[in-house]
Amino acid sequence: METKDIILELRTKKGLSQDELAEKLYVTRQAVSRWENGDTIPNTETLKALSNLFDVSINTLLGSPRKLICQCCGMPLEDSTISREINGDFNEEYCKYCYADGNYRYDNIDELIEVCVKHMSNEEFSPEEVRKYMKGLLPQLNYWKKYSQLGENEFCNFKRKLVEEINELKIEGMPKVDTLYSLEGNKVNLEYRLPNGQYTKFLNENETYFCNQLECEFGGERCFGIVANMDFILVSTYEENGINPELVLYKKR
Ligand SMILES: [Zn+2]
Repeated sequence: METKDIILELRTKKGLSQDELAEKLYVTRQAVSRWENGDTIPNTETLKALSNLFDVSINTLLGSPRKLICQCCGMPLEDSTISREINGDFNEEYCKYCYADGNYRYDNIDELIEVCVKHMSNEEFSPEEVRKYMKGLLPQLNYWKKYSQLGENEFCNFKRKLVEEINELKIEGMPKVDTLYSLEGNKVNLEYRLPNGQYTKFLNENETYFCNQLECEFGGERCFGIVANMDFILVSTYEENGINPELVLYKKR
């Protein structure tokens, strides 16, 4: 159906004359007549007002040119399942299960995938198939695209904070840190000699740490090594290739 027929149908279903509809929308009767003749299409503001008045989505008013799917869970959207803003306006991006009262329901993609597996798997579509399908589909939807960017921003903020904390330690001879690199524990897991003569390592081989290596401001053979994560900051000095390491500082965060 085209917009002109849709408006005509919705208007008559509500028992309104062209005049009455025009009055509700603060437009002229001629404007309504032009829409219903197909001469013009209501502007965005008026479409919004029509959407509110008739309680249908703008997509429906326009003759459903877009095949709407929820940008969080991928469910095809109809007027009965489209989410709404707190003021009652349609939010045509999401279904009412993923977005309600101004809040998003899901912040974990794996949690949502399991919900989908529960609801969608049947005799023809096994749980494994649903899971595989959703793992392919969901990351392409706007909500999760935005979400992963958000995650990256948080990561950068955390790294910046860590750099600040390290510089505030004002370790003698160690230059200012500009950045940190992500390295696996097995690349930076130096063996330190304990006072009793034994040797020990402090890091998990498989965990990723924020690291950097800096030359001593006073010159010399030894350089500074930094290893940090959510829980601690560790600074040491060592000779080339991590030989003869000595702990300078270990600070819990
Ligand atoms: Zn949804």
